[in-house]
Amino acid sequence: MKLSDFEYQAPSTPSEVVRILASRPGEAKILAGGQTLLPMMAYRLAQPALLIDLKNIQGLNKIVIDQSGVRLGARTRWRDIEDDDGLVKAQPLLKEAISHVAHYQVRNRGTVGGSLAHADPASELPCVAVTCEAEIRVLGPQGERRIKAEDFFLGALTTALAEDEIILEVHFPAWPSNRHWAFKEFSRRPGDFALAGVALFYDLDSQQRACNAHIGVVGACQCSQRLSAAEHALNGNAIDHGTILAVAAAAAQQANPPGDLHGDVAYRKALVATLLQRALEEAANITTENHK
Ligand SMILES: Cc1cc2nc3c(=O)[nH]c(=O)nc-3n(C[C@H](O)[C@H](O)[C@H](O)COP(=O)(O)OP(=O)(O)OC[C@H]3O[C@@H](n4cnc5c(N)ncnc54)[C@H](O)[C@@H]3O)c2cc1C
Repeated sequence: MKLSDFEYQAPSTPSEVVRILASRPGEAKILAGGQTLLPMMAYRLAQPALLIDLKNIQGLNKIVIDQSGVRLGARTRWRDIEDDDGLVKAQPLLKEAISHVAHYQVRNRGTVGGSLAHADPASELPCVAVTCEAEIRVLGPQGERRIKAEDFFLGALTTALAEDEIILEVHFPAWPSNRHWAFKEFSRRPGDFALAGVALFYDLDSQQRACNAHIGVVGACQCSQRLSAAEHALNGNAIDHGTILAVAAAAAQQANPPGDLHGDVAYRKALVATLLQRALEEAANITTENHK
């Protein structure tokens, strides 16, 4: 189907974007990489009267790594993250997770801001943002505000972003070098949306027990979220085979995945448990064979 008619503007500052959004309530949509919005328009699932293209706004595509952590500008593309070697140490979980996003062509255009605003629970970035307690900086008519990722994602395709706000950047807190982490997902073909995925990190206390566990899921809940029951099962315990099985079982129990023709609820819950088991083994640098 052809897109319905729309006006087009390409302002040069975020404030101008906000002004236009506020002047056309319910009619205008921001255009970033267009990898979601344009297909939705082609299917007439979205019919905005006005597209506000971000392409002329300078500085929104920066990756900044400093002592406070990592800041990704809203127009940062998946390709930019893939090409930034500094992220290997500064945010390894993010870097690994993003390597699973989409196909080559989509990766050249799809952006951080578009993914956060679209809030698909099957997307990698919202999961990592929630897992890592990232903060999203947005600008609206009343000025800037920062929203914790856990408060930003309200449900599938639903966020705390107001209609007249623009995402400016997302900030990931600094990453200690001795942190244990892993990301695992399963999709039928590389680059497809995952049927399920898990992101995790934890630290070790002086007795080599896990603490500060953070476990998030991709495509296994109605909203990008952490699995508190699995984190609880991990915190305070040595990483051995018993702990890993207990954490995986708690995760499967708490996961609330959708069922569809690609996999029913029971299959996806089992997938969460298996992926989490593998992720924990990798994070601890132990293999399943060690436990036999
Ligand atoms: C074939 C295919 C496979 C894909 N596979 C994956 C995958 O495996 N994993 C994954 O995570 N994603 C996947 N995607 C999605 C893609 O990676 C992008 O994340 C997604 O298209 C959104 O980014 P975008 O820049 O294209 O946003 P757009 O399509 O331009 O916009 C999406 C939405 O975000 C809004 N928006 C954009 N930028 C901002 C901003 N700065 N502030 C406020 N609102 C904004 C728009 O108004 C719109 O509502 C896939 C897409 C395709 C087409």
